[in-house]
Formats: sequence, C-alpha cells, structure tokens
Amino acid sequence: MSVHGSGHIARKRFGQNFLIDDGVIDGIIAAVSPQRGDYVIEIGPGLGALTVPLLGRLDHLHVVEIDRDLIARLRKQWPAERLTVHQGDVLAFDFSAVGQGLRIVGNLPYNISTPLLFHLAGHASLVRDIHVMLQKEVVERMVAAPGDSEFSRLSVMLQYRFDMEMLIEVPPESFDPAPRVDSAVVRLTPHAVLPHPARNEAMFAEVVSRAFAQRRKTLRNTLKGLVDDALLAGLGIDSGARAQALEVADFVRIADALAATA
Ligand code: SAM
Repeated sequence: MSVHGSGHIARKRFGQNFLIDDGVIDGIIAAVSPQRGDYVIEIGPGLGALTVPLLGRLDHLHVVEIDRDLIARLRKQWPAERLTVHQGDVLAFDFSAVGQGLRIVGNLPYNISTPLLFHLAGHASLVRDIHVMLQKEVVERMVAAPGDSEFSRLSVMLQYRFDMEMLIEVPPESFDPAPRVDSAVVRLTPHAVLPHPARNEAMFAEVVSRAFAQRRKTLRNTLKGLVDDALLAGLGIDSGARAQALEVADFVRIADALAATA
C-alpha cells in the first residue's frame, strides 16, 4: 500500500517508516530549533516529513538519501539552491565534505542504527549537535548509567564523546507503516572538552569491546591476555566485576595503563 496517498511503496530493506504525526514532527523541529544560516544535514529525508518544516526555517539544507525514487522526488520538488541531495549510503558519507558546526537531524533507518551511531561518533569533532529518532530500546542503551541492565558498549562509546538526552517518546502509530517497536528522539551534544580523554582511543575501543563481548563474564575472563589481575588491582578495579559495573573513566584508566606499557 502506498504511504499516505503519496504513491510511494515503503521499502523494508531501507528501514522506511515515514512520520505522519504532526505533533511529533513539531516536537522534533522545536527541539532542533533551526536558525536560518545553520549547517543542517538530514539523514534519510524520505517523503519529506522533516525536510519540509526544516526548509521552512533554513536558507539551505543538505540531505543524504539512498532510495533513488525518493531522490528523484526531492530533486523535482526543491531547487539545488535550497536543497543539496547527497545520493548514497550514509554509512559511507563523509560529513567533513559539508563543513563544521554541523547539525545532524534524522528519523533514522533502524536496521543500521548502531553502525550509523558509530559513524557519527567518528565525526563528532565536526558536529554541533545531533537529533535523531531511533528505537526506544537503543536510546535507553545510549543513555544508561553504569550498573543499569542496559549499560553496554554503545553506552560507553557514545558517552565518551557525547552528552545525551532522551527527548520524546514516540509510539508506532506515529509512522506509516507502523514499526513493531516503540521509538524515541534523542539529542547528542559532543562534549566541548572530553571529560576522560584516552591516550590511545583504539586501545580504549578494544578494551570496551572485549569487556562487553561476554556480558555475564568477569573482567578477569573477558580481558584475559590483554590485562592481568595485578594491573586491575593497581588501578583499584575489581577483576571479579563485570563490565556493566564500570564507569567510562574506568575503561579509560585500563586503556591508558595498557598504552603506557605498550
Ligand atoms: N525522514 C522520513 C520520515 O521521517 O518520514 C523518512 C524516515 S525512514 C525511517 C528512513 C529514511 O532513510 C528513508 O528515506 C530511507 O530510504 C533512508 N535510508 C535508509 N537507509 C539509508 C542509508 N544507508 N543511507 C541513506 N539513507 C538511508
């Protein structure tokens, strides 16, 4: 069935669930509060639910879209002076080509949400803020605190770079077609200064990834071969603890100790 009389058939493989709830759309635009000259990039404009109100407030907008049919519609509707359409996969998109102080907005395709969040984290230095709709369960993991059952690799890697806030909870009926899960809008703001900078970020990422690979196991087991009990004890970290109990700063301290001995 075509989406809301548009003639477009939603493509599941592109995670297409189009927003049809004016209250939610207004809420997202109010949260972003776009100002004329802002550098805004919308990921996945689709049929324009957010694109149209964004263009109402901006001189110019960049969008990244993968679906050729939707791209053709957007190009027909908007002149290039108002809208730059970047055709292709956002996971391969080089945000640095657009500029700095970027404001990223999107109702994201949920099937690529985790790799996309990591891709955005890699561009954090160019970003002013990010407002995105995701599966609520993913947002809960992003903002979880140490000790929470949802605290995970995603929480640590994103909290390292961003301040995050869940803004709006959105039910399935706000979309056409309706997804099977609840959704939520989250704001990510890069820390002006990293609160716990790692000496070697690749090492930090490796420690976090290993520690959470088997969530139920203790650090002694998950970090075997990388870190020994003595090193953890020297840092005042219990090797019998699980990754979920550690703060972001603890992972940084382990990675820094390893970097110092490398
Ligand atoms: N913004 C629209 C809305 O709110 O109604 C559409 C949102 S829909 C959940 C996701 C959009 O992302 C679709 O337009 C889809 O074609 C696009 N998309 C999916 N995968 C993509 C990718 N890898 N790169 C760029 N766009 C993608």
